[in-house]
Amino acid sequence: MKTIKIILAGPRGRMGREAVELIHRTEHFELVACLDRVNEGKKLSEIGGFPPIDAPIYHNPVACFQNVEADVLIDLTTPEIGKLHTKLALEYGVRPVVGTTGFTDEELKELAELAEEKKTGVIIAPNFAVGAILMMKFAQMAAKHLEDVEIIELHHDRKLDAPSGTALKTAELISQTRTPKRQGHPEEVQQLAGARGAETKDGIRIHSVRLPGLVAHQEVIFGGEGQSLSIKHDSYNRASFMSGIKLSVETIMTLDVLVYGLENIIE
Ligand code: NAP
Repeated sequence: MKTIKIILAGPRGRMGREAVELIHRTEHFELVACLDRVNEGKKLSEIGGFPPIDAPIYHNPVACFQNVEADVLIDLTTPEIGKLHTKLALEYGVRPVVGTTGFTDEELKELAELAEEKKTGVIIAPNFAVGAILMMKFAQMAAKHLEDVEIIELHHDRKLDAPSGTALKTAELISQTRTPKRQGHPEEVQQLAGARGAETKDGIRIHSVRLPGLVAHQEVIFGGEGQSLSIKHDSYNRASFMSGIKLSVETIMTLDVLVYGLENIIE
C-alpha cells in the first residue's frame, strides 16, 4: 500500500497523542509535520513522551502547508483553529480528516463548498468510535417504531462544546425517521432554566452532563406504553476513536467531496 503522508494538528492533546501512536504503528502512514502552538522549530522526537519521529513542528499553518509535502491533515484541536486549518489544507490540496467537534451548520456548508470547488475530499466526524456509529444507526431504526425519545450525553469537563456533535448528529438521524413531536407535557413548566435540556427544532430533548473522569458516553432512551428501550455507548478511552481515524485517512484518498459522519464511510 502507498505510504500516506500526514500532518497532525494538536499532537499534545489527548486525542493528538493517541493519533501520534496510531500513525507510528501503522506501516503505510508517515507523520511528516505537526501543527502546534508551542515547540515551533523543534522535532517531535525532541519532546518528551513521544515516539522517535523526526517530524518538524510548525506554529504557522501557512508555512507548514507551503514547506511540507503531505496527503492528509488530521485535525484534533478546537473548532476555531480546526476550521482555519481545514480551509488552508484545502487551499493547498491536502485532504483534511477532522475530529475536532463544534462546527456550526454554516461552517460545514462553507467547507463543503470549498471542498467541491477544490475537488478535494474532507471527512469531518463528530465521533470516530465505530460503536457510537452503531448506536446512532440503531437509534434511527428504533425511532421508526418508538417516537418518544430523549438523549443524554456525558463527557469529561474539558469539553468546549455542548451538546456534543454526536448528540446533535443522533438527533438529526432520528429526525429523518421520526414524525416531529415536542417531548414532554405540552404545559410543562421548567422551575429551573434548562431543567428539560436543550430542544432540537423537531422537539427532541438533549441533556449534557460534564464531569471529570468521564470520556465520551451517550444514552438514547425511547419510551412507549409500558416499555422503554435504552441504547447506550461508552468510550472508556481515546484509543476507541483511532480505528475510525485510520479508516478515514485511508478512505479520504479516494474522495473529492466533504463527508460528514463516519457512518457515511463504513459499510
Ligand atoms: P485537548 O486535549 O484539549 O487537545 C486539543 C489540542 O489542540 C491541544 O493540544 C491544544 O494545545 C491544541 N491547540 C489549540 N490551539 C491550537 C493551535 N492554534 N494550533 C495547534 N494546536 C492547537 O482536546 P482533546 O480531548 O484531544 O480533543 C481535541 C478535539 O477532538 C476536540 O475538539 C474534541 O471535541 C474532539 N474529539 C473528537 C472525537 C471524535 O471522535 N471525533 C473524540 C474525542 C474528542 P494547547 O495545549 O496549547 O491548548
